[in-house]
Amino acid sequence: MSAPTPNKAAATPEDILVLLQALCLPLDAEQVALAEAAGRVLREPVCAPEDQPPFDRSSVDGFAVRQDDRSFQFRIVGQIRAGDWRPRTLRPGEAMRIGTGAALPGDNLRVVMKEDARVETDRLTVLRQDSERNIRFRGEDARAGQVLVGAGVMLSPGALALLASVGCARPRVTRRPRVLHLATGNEIVAPDRIPERGQIRDSNSALVRAFLGQWGIIPEQRRVAEDAERIKSEIQNPQSQNENLDLLLVSGGASVGDHDFTRRRLEESGFTVLISKTTARPGKPLILAQRGNTLAFGLPGNPLAHFVCLNLYVRAALEGFAGQATRTAFTPGVLAADLPAGGNPRETFWPARWSLQDGSATLTPLRWSSSGDLTSLSAANALIRVRAGPEQLPCGKRVEFVPLERS
Ligand code: AMP
Ligand code: MG
Repeated sequence: MSAPTPNKAAATPEDILVLLQALCLPLDAEQVALAEAAGRVLREPVCAPEDQPPFDRSSVDGFAVRQDDRSFQFRIVGQIRAGDWRPRTLRPGEAMRIGTGAALPGDNLRVVMKEDARVETDRLTVLRQDSERNIRFRGEDARAGQVLVGAGVMLSPGALALLASVGCARPRVTRRPRVLHLATGNEIVAPDRIPERGQIRDSNSALVRAFLGQWGIIPEQRRVAEDAERIKSEIQNPQSQNENLDLLLVSGGASVGDHDFTRRRLEESGFTVLISKTTARPGKPLILAQRGNTLAFGLPGNPLAHFVCLNLYVRAALEGFAGQATRTAFTPGVLAADLPAGGNPRETFWPARWSLQDGSATLTPLRWSSSGDLTSLSAANALIRVRAGPEQLPCGKRVEFVPLERS
């Protein structure tokens, strides 16, 4: 991470994103098996080692015949199944049975579809002349040496399939960040427990785990209540894997209440606090701190604040650590319903569902009563950015949003 500029005033979302971009540089690259590479970012381009496909292949089940032979009667002289290699020069009037994906026996051929033919023993009658050759030609997908997947691209299932098809079995990707998540608060209990009066179930740990799972990251997670010594030792302990921790997430206690200790614990443990609040909501008391190569977020415990901070800021940090070439950006869209947020004193990120309609992103704001309201989160796939100011936001208004799917 590069040298930070300490900033203790309330930071705008832009300030935070710019700072994260400067702080979160790509982690080391490593070669891993394909099964380990999903969701990771490729660090060097993968090129086609040979033409793709490497030989002419039939795209249908049928009969290979000479391209110039338009007759209706043929004699079947052999069979080629997928996996066979049977070079042969076909003479006029000769056909070879061929399966989908099988190598053509020679050049200047076409394939008569099985559906267009009738067969009696070794006699083939063509019922319909097809203008298509029904061949996937050598090199028609890519030429030898062509870049198939560039550096900086996140490996989706489709990209992994492509890598497998060209024999790139151990791609060079960014190592996964080591992440520790501490859930603080005396009131939280595990989801499988029945809370006493005054207690609530810990939903943030599940949210954090699933969120990080999109990057293939499995965090260490602990519930530490408000036990100051425990929190300090978790953050400090150089014997654990924390020594090489890339990212520390602390849920709860980020604000200025009597029991909000996150900032103090981080400072006691040698972290420099770079940001302690933002101008936007939810997620106003957000802490960003740094110690050596470890970045720490103190996330406000409110579930919606958590959701927003993870999807905006932690995501930006992960994209930086991963060396991802394309970063999440604010995207233009149109409101599909009134947003009851006009006259907004503060910039707000509003949970919504977006879909594509008539070529533009259409946003349906979800019901949201408070930062503690989890009911809208299961449907949310976008956050609408509502700027501070007197502007009304009726249906049809153009707005900016962040899509939440990873791409
Ligand atoms: P805090 O940031 O600690 O002041 O917490 C703000 C709100 O979030 C409080 O209502 C907490 O009870 C709630 N909260 C804190 N941690 C969690 C958690 N892990 N799961 C669900 N809610 C939480
Ligand atoms: Mg708390």
